[in-house]
Amino acid sequence: MVLRPFSVVHSIIYDEKKNKATGVRVIDSHTKEMTEYYARIIFVNAAALNTNLILLNSKSGRFPNGLGNDSGVLGKYFAFHNYRAHISGIYDGFKDTTTAGGRPTSAYIPRFRNVHRQETDFLRGYAAGFSGGRYSFPKPEGFGAALKESLAKKDPGPWRVGSHMMGETIPKVTNFVTLDPNKKDDWGIPQLDISVAYDDNDEKMVKDFMEQLSEMYSKAGFTEIKTSDSKQAPGLDIHEMGGVRMGRDPKTSMLNKWNQLHACPNVFITDGACMTSTSCQNPSLTYMAITARACDYAVSQMKKNEI
Ligand SMILES: Cc1cc2nc3c(=O)[nH]c(=O)nc-3n(C[C@H](O)[C@H](O)[C@H](O)COP(=O)(O)OP(=O)(O)OC[C@H]3O[C@@H](n4cnc5c(N)ncnc54)[C@H](O)[C@@H]3O)c2cc1C
Repeated sequence: MVLRPFSVVHSIIYDEKKNKATGVRVIDSHTKEMTEYYARIIFVNAAALNTNLILLNSKSGRFPNGLGNDSGVLGKYFAFHNYRAHISGIYDGFKDTTTAGGRPTSAYIPRFRNVHRQETDFLRGYAAGFSGGRYSFPKPEGFGAALKESLAKKDPGPWRVGSHMMGETIPKVTNFVTLDPNKKDDWGIPQLDISVAYDDNDEKMVKDFMEQLSEMYSKAGFTEIKTSDSKQAPGLDIHEMGGVRMGRDPKTSMLNKWNQLHACPNVFITDGACMTSTSCQNPSLTYMAITARACDYAVSQMKKNEI
């Protein structure tokens, strides 16, 4: 394998005579020189947003709106996780224990809403993180032995606990990414315009998180419970997904069940761009499993000369 650093993929090369992708155009990030590399199959894994960008920027006579984009679905149904809501409190107990290094480790409250049946006025649900610690912010006093003594004597304060929500947002056609018609990056590649927003479902989920977690916190005996909504813009957190979604019908999806572009099967997309829903878990192990599965399939198909 040759690993080529300082390489910015500009687009995928599509051969109109062979009806397949034949390689990638790569810009050297230092010299800005463009080189073409050729391959029998291509895996695009630039993370969800940039994978969308590369496909949208891969225009040809056959695919004027981006590689594999016969349906016009490319870039649409973009989604993410909603981390807006937080809760914190204090626990006046366990004074004989304290924070030590990374302990106690953080915990995870799995989704408990709408798991077996629809039970709320919003769809799907959220998971929550949980962490606790005794944090002191010592003001150093004195020098030498006196300094050590003043630091050691510091009261770590009460246990402080906190949680954040990790909410599922529902992919929808109105959340999409496109190429900016005017703005380009340093390598002459169009920048991505990201048009995503929260909706009523997200607002209801934020409210429910605050109510449910407040009840849990007060039943656990926590006090000084405070909730907050950062109201930050969508996408300021992590776990972007979609835009090159998987599906049986080429009219409404970009990829088949093996992560191949319906309209250009020697190109595989196996990062978050392929996701059709976001669920509310950390997604990366799923991407890795999907990638391993697609690689296994690609190898078997190549051995049979099917791609
Ligand atoms: C702060 C933070 C915490 C996270 N915590 C978790 C977690 O606890 N659990 C979890 O499951 N997920 C977590 N995630 C998400 C996780 O990091 C991503 O889901 C994962 O890295 C996606 O893997 P990827 O290979 O698709 O993309 P990346 O890891 O982003 O890799 C994509 C690569 O492509 C390169 N690239 C992009 N465009 C081009 C181009 N045009 N040409 C050449 N190269 C290009 C990029 O430089 C990058 O190296 C976290 C993310 C962040 C930011």
